[in-house]
Amino acid sequence: MENDPAFRPVAYFSMEVGLKESIPTYSGGLGVLAGDILKSAADLGVPMAGVTLLYRKGYFVQEFNDQDWQQEKPVVWDPSKELTLLPNKISVTIRGREIKVGVWVYECIGATGYPLPIYFLDTDFDGNHPDDRKLCWYLYGGDNHYRLCQEFILGVGGLRMLRALGYMNIDTFHLNEGHAGFLTLELMRELGYYDPDRIREQVVFTTHTPVPAGHDYFTFGEIDQVFPDDAKTTIHKMIPDKPGVSMTELGLRYSRYVNGVAKKHAEVSNAMFNMETVDWITNGIHPTTWVSSGMRKLYNKHIPGWELDPGRLVQALTIPANEIWAAHQASKLRLFARIMETNGIQLDPDVLTLGFARRAATYKRADLLLTDVERLKKIAEKRKVQFVFAGKSHPADNGGKALLQKIRKASHEFGGNIRIVFMDNYNMEIASLLTQGVDVWLNNPIRPREASGTSGMKCAMNGIMNFSVLDGWWIEGWIEDVTGWSIGPEPSEAEAKEAATSTHYDEKLDAVDLYDKLENKVIPTYYDNHDKWVDMMRHTIALDASFFNTHRVVHEYASKAYSIDFRGM
Ligand SMILES: *Cc1c(COP(=O)(O)O)cnc(C)c1O
Repeated sequence: MENDPAFRPVAYFSMEVGLKESIPTYSGGLGVLAGDILKSAADLGVPMAGVTLLYRKGYFVQEFNDQDWQQEKPVVWDPSKELTLLPNKISVTIRGREIKVGVWVYECIGATGYPLPIYFLDTDFDGNHPDDRKLCWYLYGGDNHYRLCQEFILGVGGLRMLRALGYMNIDTFHLNEGHAGFLTLELMRELGYYDPDRIREQVVFTTHTPVPAGHDYFTFGEIDQVFPDDAKTTIHKMIPDKPGVSMTELGLRYSRYVNGVAKKHAEVSNAMFNMETVDWITNGIHPTTWVSSGMRKLYNKHIPGWELDPGRLVQALTIPANEIWAAHQASKLRLFARIMETNGIQLDPDVLTLGFARRAATYKRADLLLTDVERLKKIAEKRKVQFVFAGKSHPADNGGKALLQKIRKASHEFGGNIRIVFMDNYNMEIASLLTQGVDVWLNNPIRPREASGTSGMKCAMNGIMNFSVLDGWWIEGWIEDVTGWSIGPEPSEAEAKEAATSTHYDEKLDAVDLYDKLENKVIPTYYDNHDKWVDMMRHTIALDASFFNTHRVVHEYASKAYSIDFRGM
């Protein structure tokens, strides 16, 4: 029964899924979160299947030219090494042509042996028009038209493929962000008549973006060029009052349950969409994917059973300080060995090291640290500090590329008391080295634009403190001087409302606070109060890692969004 598709009531749709670096079908947090949720679902035996696209050309490999300008190199990977091509084929019609869609499967095996299939749709087959074969090549690669075709394949083709694979009893279609929203069209086609309530009963929607500009939008002009006639008629009926389709709006209107990915994000979403019903399920990370081998051993020794029930990490205060420190230093050395290998720079393991790595989107302000270089140098005169940066910019985002250039130039210029290192090609492997091996995780987005953020949770799983603007998950995980430190002012409710309509923000305040706290709290605690430092590490594990993990997230989705019981629970 475990492998019988007839008994899988939940289908999870995501434009990107990040399971490991050797399956390069993700670009950042959204995909990694999807992968982590599916892994936890497998660990917990939740009867669910995942659906995404294959991306034969992946996202991209990051290199830099001698101007420190990002260059994108194609990813070379062979899907047949990681996935199994199934014999099933379905077809969809777009742009007036019929396209054969095939599917690859990855069996995610949970900690107790429960298999969870993840399906990767592909159109690169003989018999398809050359342009159609390319539709599953690039993740976030082409223009809006290309994206529209991809989203039709994901939503409509995805559901059609699930049926071909024998999934006849799905109660819940979970849209991880709006990209797969066109599956509602296929549900309507299956139904045979127009009944929005019947569709709504089957769909749940998780929104991830707190700014309207982040939502995919297609005009009816664009849609009419791509869709077949029946789908065209239905979508015009479903969104009768607008000149086009926002995928977020589609999700909001045709779901029985909607959530944001942190409490604050739900507040901002309700204000932005003029709603009151957006709930929140705060994100998490998959424990055994992100924990270091040293910490894992320690937790297994002192907190048996934590892998299946990471809530037990509340007991972390019982782990001896010297063991925590030894496990941490081992991870730090591993990171530094890698930096020596790739950058030819030997960092000092006894020097306080801060990490900053994320997509180089401008709102994440990777360069905030460099706002006042003189001040930074003064701070480091007394005590040394090291910074390790990483991050990719979207190929079309010149603002993001300029940020990376600025940081890389700084990394060449600083020396002596401040070292700055930039690691190329941020991916899940680099993320894992960094979130296990630095001492402090820095995060300073423009509030409230970080819907949740998850890299800081990976750090918490390794007892690494966050030093972050109060946004996203950190508002919930932050206890000053206990789990880390805040940067900038505390958020207010009025601000959430305002944020939906304006982006006015006094950025200078954050930079000043960052320098003040670095100088007066982070540096002195690290160098002068080792006992307190390690105690903060333990509190970070007990208070943050115990909660901000995808086992807890999947429990919440199962009870609030799916209403299912699952094996062993
Ligand atoms: C975890 C992860 C992210 C997401 O990090 P944020 O803190 O949400 O920005 C992005 N990219 C990679 C490779 C990751 O592993």
